[in-house]
Amino acid sequence: MLLRDTVIKVDLDDIAYNMDLIRKMAGSAAVMPVIKANGYGHGAVPIAATLMKHGASYLAVATLTEALELREAWPDYPLFILGHTPDRLLPLAAENRIVSTIFSIEQGRILSDLACKTGRSVKAHLKVDTGFHRLGATDLRQMAAVCRLPGLDVEGIFSHLALAGSEENEKQYRQFCAVIQGLEKEGITFRYHHLADSISAVDDPKYRMDMIRPGALVFGLRGFHKGFLPVRQALTFETRISQIHRIRKGEGVGYDYLWTAPADTRIGTLPFGYADGYPRSMRGKGYVTIRGVKCPVVGVICMDQCMVDLAGVPEAREGDRAVIYGNGRNNTMSIAEAAELAGTNKNEIVSRLAARPPRVYIAGGSAHSIPSSVSAFRT
Ligand SMILES: *Cc1c(COP(=O)(O)O)cnc(C)c1O
Repeated sequence: MLLRDTVIKVDLDDIAYNMDLIRKMAGSAAVMPVIKANGYGHGAVPIAATLMKHGASYLAVATLTEALELREAWPDYPLFILGHTPDRLLPLAAENRIVSTIFSIEQGRILSDLACKTGRSVKAHLKVDTGFHRLGATDLRQMAAVCRLPGLDVEGIFSHLALAGSEENEKQYRQFCAVIQGLEKEGITFRYHHLADSISAVDDPKYRMDMIRPGALVFGLRGFHKGFLPVRQALTFETRISQIHRIRKGEGVGYDYLWTAPADTRIGTLPFGYADGYPRSMRGKGYVTIRGVKCPVVGVICMDQCMVDLAGVPEAREGDRAVIYGNGRNNTMSIAEAAELAGTNKNEIVSRLAARPPRVYIAGGSAHSIPSSVSAFRT
């Protein structure tokens, strides 16, 4: 049973559809979907099965905690940590057959020592800094030394684009290729060479190399410029009206009465707030969609509730469905529009969705109705 009216619905058919498109686009390149930050708020564990079924070669996350959560659910699937794993935790990752990112000889030695001690080789991917200056090695001789450590299988080499324009992308790409060639000259080769996130994978086929790391794209969030892929937004965020108030012109609403009614109207109270991951900065900009009508959020957004002006929907009743984020059709606010209004990007909007709203997964149904096969994961 759903224990709240405020829910996040994830259409697994949309995720599957997006993955199929991504796989087709990738051609011979492997696809490693990025499902960090609880799968961009969609729920990493529940969506993983769909991704595996639709051709994910690997699943990538940002942290060891995220990887361990997936490992518990999926004992055998290849898992990769894109971010930094502190030295003291590298053995824990390896013991759980989680592949870490490394960029120093010290990290390589820790994994190599473990491999020699246990007699089982340990996989890692080597990260190269090509200009982003976030994580990555720069010294070719050190990189070669890491790759030659006994028991350590440096299966992949990768870098990340700053997306600072096509010229800068090109510079980073050439630098990355130069490192790969430099290592090849030393007789060092890799199974996977990867550079592309969602945007660069769609925009430039060259950056796909032999593996891509799409995150946003998997969830149907479009950020590309030159290329195009008709991915579908898989997430909707909905609630229901708790109470309706009739108020008079000039009456205030919410903390500090920061909004006052310009005319007699009806105010709807909705049971979602910034603790559910709705940006507080939406005050004066946000709206929800009730019976196909945009209803502006009025007054301050509270931690667990907010109020909307129902002036445009005289037929609205308590218990009516209100769409917070929809797919943009029928007057709903898409995640792209939410990002624009809140002054951020789409990834921040979804990744900051809180654990509190229950996730509802839809499979075998349309995005607009909830079939009986819906399963609700309480959080
Ligand atoms: C998050 C992340 C990605 C995925 O980014 P999107 O823009 O969501 O596709 C890819 N690579 C790295 C290293 C990342 O941190």
